Amino acid sequence: MIDRGGQAVTEHQASVQVTKVEKRRLAWLPFTLALLVAALLLAWQRLYFEMRDAHRTALSEAESIMTVVELSRAMSSTDVSPWLTSASSRFSDVVSSSYCVGAQCSAHYRQGRAPLCSQGDRWGSVCAQSFPRGAGAFVEVRHSLMPAYQATLRDMLMVCVVALLGLGTWFSAEQRLRQQVLRREDQLRHAARHDALTGLLNRAAFDAVLAEHLARPKAERSPATLLYMDLDGFKHLNDTHGHHMGDQVLKEVTRRFGAALPEARASMGRLGGDEFAVILPNVSEPLAVAASVDALTESLTPPFEAEQMSAQLGVSIGAVVLDAEVHTAEEALRRADVAMDEAKRLGHGKLVLFDDLLGSRARRRQFIQSELRPAIIQGQLYLEYQPQVGMDGGMRGVEALVRWRHPRFGVIRPDEFISVAEETGLILPLGVAVIEMACRDLVALRKQGVALPYVSVNVSPRQLADPQLVPALMSALRQHGLGPADMELEVTEGAVMEVNGAESSVLDHLSARGFRIAIDDFGTGYSSLSRLQRMKVDKLKIDGSFMEGLGEPGHDPVLVDMMLSLAKRLGVKSVAEGVETQQQADWLRDAGCQMIQGYLYAKPMPPAQLAVWLKERAGDHDDDEDVWSPTVSAEL
Ligand code: C2E
Ligand code: MG
Ligand code: MG
Repeated sequence: MIDRGGQAVTEHQASVQVTKVEKRRLAWLPFTLALLVAALLLAWQRLYFEMRDAHRTALSEAESIMTVVELSRAMSSTDVSPWLTSASSRFSDVVSSSYCVGAQCSAHYRQGRAPLCSQGDRWGSVCAQSFPRGAGAFVEVRHSLMPAYQATLRDMLMVCVVALLGLGTWFSAEQRLRQQVLRREDQLRHAARHDALTGLLNRAAFDAVLAEHLARPKAERSPATLLYMDLDGFKHLNDTHGHHMGDQVLKEVTRRFGAALPEARASMGRLGGDEFAVILPNVSEPLAVAASVDALTESLTPPFEAEQMSAQLGVSIGAVVLDAEVHTAEEALRRADVAMDEAKRLGHGKLVLFDDLLGSRARRRQFIQSELRPAIIQGQLYLEYQPQVGMDGGMRGVEALVRWRHPRFGVIRPDEFISVAEETGLILPLGVAVIEMACRDLVALRKQGVALPYVSVNVSPRQLADPQLVPALMSALRQHGLGPADMELEVTEGAVMEVNGAESSVLDHLSARGFRIAIDDFGTGYSSLSRLQRMKVDKLKIDGSFMEGLGEPGHDPVLVDMMLSLAKRLGVKSVAEGVETQQQADWLRDAGCQMIQGYLYAKPMPPAQLAVWLKERAGDHDDDEDVWSPTVSAEL
């Protein structure tokens, strides 16, 4: 693909080529002027010599006639006119001749000039006179200049013909060159605006098309929608089958997208790797957008097959209606990108239409992304603890829940920043900080005489995949004189089921080391029961969303019932999360649930408040639960 830099170079090349041609085109003007001046000089020179020759000829003619006329006078002929006429007629270009003798011409004779030559036709002829010494007479001849003019004209014509031929040849060569350059310029411009692989508009050109659309006055602007598409599974295909195959697939995707939306083909662009965008003209209603999106999605349904490869791709799409609220191409693309990211987050093959809520969420995410790292380093994170109580109301353990106290925005809840931390990888340093704080607080609470069996820490999928997790856990516990039995690790059901071999062996490894493993948010993921049976799990934490309506008349608690039975059959403890009412607690106790965590008993609270809360309830615990098993550090 041509990048922005490459495109700038190519556009520059194109403009240089065009400038050159324009300059060459202008060169014909001085060339023609020079030719004209040369032709005029030539003509002038030719005429000058022709006239000089004509004058000399006239002089010699005058002398010849004079000889004849003098001879006839010597033969005492009084009338010399016939002789004059006959002598003149021998010269075809003599226009007129006259003879002067005696007193009538003595004045002229003295002055050495003839009356005729000083007047009459100055342009059509030259005049010459013969004044023989001692003759007392002279002959004057007027010689036509027509032959001189004709010769000059002939030469001029020849020069013009040659010049015209030269100019013609030059012009046709120039024309050919110009066409070549224009063709090349077209190619360069096309290359500058199009993606070399797919032939679609490249990013800069797409930006320009979008900007052009948005620049139209709002009244004239037809409704349109911008779609931002990102292929699902393309990276994997590229990594597995190589870039050559990846390129083939991208070409095929382009062909299919073009066929799916022929009316929008001209405004389709490839914005990078596997990202495409298109402007749907005259489409703004959600149903119409969905129809276009369906066409795109369906076009990817047939598998991509080449050289013994068969792959299935999907597409996640973000859509933005280009209404009056969208002013610039940058803004439109940013919104579409946000919507597309959301589509990816929701799972593959989704369409998300940008709205204000999404926009503010995106801004919030952006803010968290930039501020979370310094927050971890500067210790703005802290833990609150929520007790888990037995059915007798006795303390069992506490769950550590992270909080972020932002100096300007106050306390930010984990729901807002944990997912961003997951995406950005910041969950790793954040997880280490949480483990460290949980150990520190547990030791501090126990030092205050609080009987606290364990602290439960949430572990994200990305942490499970991190080889540093086990060393970090062990090191933190060792540092505070604690052991694995003092810590429970909560892993969400979705994360447990998603983990591949290596990560699930990490869980087994942690369990073997003595850590308690709890499946968090149970019931919200898709558990494989066989996998659940194989795993060394201590606890199922039934998600708070199942508590709604529990114990109320007419509510069917079948799912909670099933989850509790499952926990019983698997021999693991059951905890109900999000219990808010006594009614829910009563129902859970009757149904055999072993522990409760919820606002009914306590909200998450800072360690100092927890200490007070725990002391107030001291001795209120169930003896058959392993309340507190101080670990011998040497075990580690
Ligand atoms: P979770 O692990 O399922 O934690 C339980 C959440 O339910 C907590 O929200 C808690 O305050 C809330 N909760 C407890 N009892 C009730 C109740 O009776 N009613 C209602 N409406 N809510 C109740 P919180 O603290 O906002 O945490 C949200 C989620 O953030 C946690 O869900 C957990 O998945 C995640 N999280 C919190 N701290 C950490 C952490 O240190 N690391 C990781 N990876 N995730 C964390
Ligand atoms: Mg939890
Ligand atoms: Mg939970």
